[in-house]
Amino acid sequence: VTDAEALVLGIVPADLAYPSEISSRSSPSESINQRGNAQLERVIAAMRATGATGRPDEVQVVAFADERPRVVVAVGLGDDPGREELRRAAGAGVRAVPAAETVALSMPVPDAGAMRAIAEGALLGSYRFDRYRSRPSADGARRLIIPEPADPELLNQAIVTAEAVALARDLVNAPPSDLYPETLAEVARAMNGVDVEVLDERDLHDGGYGGIAGVGQGSARPPRLIHVSYQGGEQRLALVGKGVTFDSGGLSLKPPGELPDMKMDMGGAAAVLAAVGAIARLGYRVDVEAWLPVVENMPGGRAIRPSDVLTMRNGLRVEVRDTDNEGRLILADAIARASEDEPAILIDIATLTSAQIVALGRRTAAVMANDDTLRAGLVAAATTAGEDIWPMPLPPYLRSELDSRLADLSNVAPPDAAMLTAGMFLREFVRPGVRWAHLDIAGPAYNVGEPHGYTPHGGTGAGVRTLIQFAARLHGECGS
Ligand code: MN
Ligand code: MN
Repeated sequence: VTDAEALVLGIVPADLAYPSEISSRSSPSESINQRGNAQLERVIAAMRATGATGRPDEVQVVAFADERPRVVVAVGLGDDPGREELRRAAGAGVRAVPAAETVALSMPVPDAGAMRAIAEGALLGSYRFDRYRSRPSADGARRLIIPEPADPELLNQAIVTAEAVALARDLVNAPPSDLYPETLAEVARAMNGVDVEVLDERDLHDGGYGGIAGVGQGSARPPRLIHVSYQGGEQRLALVGKGVTFDSGGLSLKPPGELPDMKMDMGGAAAVLAAVGAIARLGYRVDVEAWLPVVENMPGGRAIRPSDVLTMRNGLRVEVRDTDNEGRLILADAIARASEDEPAILIDIATLTSAQIVALGRRTAAVMANDDTLRAGLVAAATTAGEDIWPMPLPPYLRSELDSRLADLSNVAPPDAAMLTAGMFLREFVRPGVRWAHLDIAGPAYNVGEPHGYTPHGGTGAGVRTLIQFAARLHGECGS
């Protein structure tokens, strides 16, 4: 069947049915049919013995003493698996393979798009982050053998997408001692195919970026606004990503138990940077102007105080009542700046509110927008890409919840609908006429639990695939 050391084998429920049952069903999965060898019969027997039924997320590892493959990882696909089921199963299977140089995947491939999903899942599941161990794990570079048909263009999309997700995960996982505003700017400057301009603390002050400069002033590591441009032509897309490299809460300090995960608060900036790099590599006919406001939110002698008033890039003045609501302050400046170029579409992405997790949990992101078609387009792009993003409203009556007794706006609203009032806050900084959407990825950006499917613990790269897919749709609309 394969000379690979390891085989990841997709199993559908019919594969585990006994012969008498098979005769009464439609034909068993081709993956088994094509090969009826003794090794595979043993895998099936092992799965039956443990009560496996071929449901999604079932994983069973079977080892063989003197044969190849040495190990078979059987993964459940469920009945009639779609692309996301294939992607997840490929990722879970590859993740479960013990040290092996070559891993072959055998799964039903109805079309080239399924092949792409399997390749993408396998690559996403291969991700490791062990550069902070004194001894990195042995299973470094693996060769993956993907089932045919291997459409080169789709395979390239899978590779570029998975590498972009890996970059975003690396950036999120990096400790804040190494990843701070200037070092994130260095990562941007090193990217190929894009132009990068970095505004430093003086530029931010002189340019009227009161939100970014204000939030950043409490840290010994000064803030940056990173501007990444890709000139692909025609459609003009602006992206904004929240980049808080560590969110202590500032003087409105977070409780100690919440602090260790707060390096993840730049997941939006990581997603935007990775996506722009991928869009450039794929050569999409889209102009992208990306803005990454990057700060470290720290308490200190120069930090902003609850009750301070900041003047933002668009002239609005904001009363800071809670320095832990810093994300909207830096996004506001970046959204105002991105709006000045009057893009056709502006999308911001941010680990913005814990209310997102309350509302939708840790695997489903939210999208809010001032345009229903754009919001639906992002949900559709996410579905195609295999991400879960759910549409949320921006009810106009909530705007008054952000009224300040002192200034134009407060950065705090009552606790009800806190995800939506954060969106309403951002909306104040979008220039009229600009179609805008806001993605809140607070939960999905960082997996605090065990790995699942192709998703590791820690940084997940949430949003990267959706942004690339959204650009792919704009590229497709351009014609040639
Ligand atoms: Mn915060
Ligand atoms: Mn934050």
